[in-house]
Amino acid sequence: MSRVLTRFPDHGYLVCNSYTRSADSMPANSDLSSLSVRQLRARRRRLAASLADPQANLEGSLVSQLRRCGKEGCRCTQGELHGPYVYLSISRGADRRLVYVPADLAEAVRQHLTLSEQIEASLAAISAINLELLARRQLD
Ligand SMILES: [Zn+2]
Repeated sequence: MSRVLTRFPDHGYLVCNSYTRSADSMPANSDLSSLSVRQLRARRRRLAASLADPQANLEGSLVSQLRRCGKEGCRCTQGELHGPYVYLSISRGADRRLVYVPADLAEAVRQHLTLSEQIEASLAAISAINLELLARRQLD
C-alpha cells in the first residue's frame, strides 16, 4: 500500500491511501528454459484451467480519500476533512477517473480486483510459455 497525496482543484480532494495492484506481474520465467516442450505445454494447460472467471475482471485500484465539502464554516475548512470515502481509480493513459464505491460494495470490488490480478498474472505466465515455445519453434 502506497501513500499518495493528490489535490483536485474543484473539490479539494485528498487521496490518503492507495491500494494498488502489484505493479510487477511478470512471472519469473528464467526456469522455463529448463523445461521440456511437453512440460511447458502441461504448465500452460494448468494455468489456463486454473484461470479465474474472466467475468470477474475489473480494472483499477481502490483509493480512499478525505474531502472538503466546500460549505462555508464547515469543520473541513479548518482541516477536519470528511471521509474517508472509497473510490475505484481507473487510469487510461494520462487520464484518471474516480468512481465512487459505496461502503457495502467495497469488499466485492476488492475481491474483483484480486481476481483480476490473478487473471492478469496467469495470462502473463501463459504468454511467457508461448514465448519460450516460439523461441524453440514449437509454438502450436
Ligand atoms: Zn465540510
